[in-house]
Amino acid sequence: MQGFVHSIETMGLLDGPGTRTIFFLQGCPLRCAFCHNPDTLKRVGGQVMTPEDILKFAGRYRSYYGEEGGVTFSGGEPLLQGEFVYQCLKLLKQEGYNTCVDTSGFGNPRFYSRILPLVDTLILDVKAFDRQSFEDLTTIDGFDAYLEFLNRLGRNGFSGQIWVRHVMVPGLTDDEESMEKFIRILKPIRNKVDRIEILPYHTSGVKKYHELGIPYRLEGVEPMDKKRAKELEIYANKLFAEELRQERAERERVRQEKFKQLKENEVASEQEKAEMFQALRQLPLLNDVDEQDVEAVLNEVILSNIKAGELIFKTGDAPDFMYLIFEGQMKIFVNTVDGEEQIFYIYRDGDFVGGLNLLVQTPYRYIGQALTDCKVVVIPKSTFDKYFYNSPVVLRSVLVKSFERIRWAEELIQRLATSNASMKTAGLLLKLVKRIGVETEEGIRLELSMSREELGNYSGLRRETITRKLGEFKELGYIELVGNRVIIVKDIEALESYVL
Ligand code: SF4
Repeated sequence: MQGFVHSIETMGLLDGPGTRTIFFLQGCPLRCAFCHNPDTLKRVGGQVMTPEDILKFAGRYRSYYGEEGGVTFSGGEPLLQGEFVYQCLKLLKQEGYNTCVDTSGFGNPRFYSRILPLVDTLILDVKAFDRQSFEDLTTIDGFDAYLEFLNRLGRNGFSGQIWVRHVMVPGLTDDEESMEKFIRILKPIRNKVDRIEILPYHTSGVKKYHELGIPYRLEGVEPMDKKRAKELEIYANKLFAEELRQERAERERVRQEKFKQLKENEVASEQEKAEMFQALRQLPLLNDVDEQDVEAVLNEVILSNIKAGELIFKTGDAPDFMYLIFEGQMKIFVNTVDGEEQIFYIYRDGDFVGGLNLLVQTPYRYIGQALTDCKVVVIPKSTFDKYFYNSPVVLRSVLVKSFERIRWAEELIQRLATSNASMKTAGLLLKLVKRIGVETEEGIRLELSMSREELGNYSGLRRETITRKLGEFKELGYIELVGNRVIIVKDIEALESYVL
């Protein structure tokens, strides 16, 4: 594995926190009008280095890095050499280096999910704030791709901090309105942004263009006034802080409203409450909570009655609560682009949802809706952080649950992608046998909380198809149908033969 390195700066102080070694890599698909490194644009050239060479070189200056400093990859566009950057970051991280990537978001997307988890600081160059200016400035119709990069940072595993940079060119973005647009496009990454910097356009790169014989598109444009650029940088930062404040206030308002609504639905009778507390005390969840704190936990949780059909949480909800189903059943689903409902899981007594969201602070990506009347124990984030965050029992349960969900999702993908209707129906019945099956003399009894339509949504089939398939299985003697809500599985081996 080799990469093309245009140049190396040691003891750099501007491109990332602390003192850093900066590797400027070759290659960039953009053609920014103000680019002062036109000699880095070619994909091939400069010095050929291996990831081991990079590690060795960085090691020479390690003693200067201190607590904050480390290694930065800049360019050009470093993400264009995706495999090389990934291999370098992997080695550097194994050796405990602080890492930074300075990017415009135009690399090879195939490597993003491998590179981004290894990056501590991302310096994000924001070229322009709308499609047309982006194209005018870079000669590329890439604004949507850029927004996509921004939107997917979290999903690609980036969990570090972001420094946002914008080169301000006189007459293009040197006004308040542009700063407002600038702050608006940062919305998806707001919580990760650590600083916003305006770099005043300068003309020191023009000479290189003349030497290389390349036409310079900003010929005649004066350098950006530094004082004005600073004023606008302060304006942008203030705007950003205000948006953050408003967002937090809105989030707090939603949280309080939800808390109020859950409280209103709280289990009414004292006796019922006492019974639930008694049962809760037996749960492994409370194993690591000190005896004297158990009472406090029970006082802080909300014991909510949720009616069948009510939403418990929805996509985008902040990770403010974890839900433990005390009684009843809940479905977790998304609405697909075709307007169909895709059910992922059915949860019932003793299951919980939201633990991972609280741990990694990511909003809910699914919808949770009560299938039957439910009693749900709602654990607020503050209670979770205080009593459960460091509990091995809780962490283990979250891990086990997450693993079960991954397995479940994998099976679902396989079922949806590869199975025919008989296989999907048999697979669904077997899943239900595992989850809710009760052995009886006539067979394994499944008391369903779902309609035929929901069964279809769960298995990736249309309502008519699942109804027809269940009819066929009945004819074959595999199952018996008792009304709309009970299925008795008579021949489990026959069902298994469809999926094994
Ligand atoms: S992204 Fe950077 S290296 Fe690429 S053209 Fe623009 S300024 Fe030059």
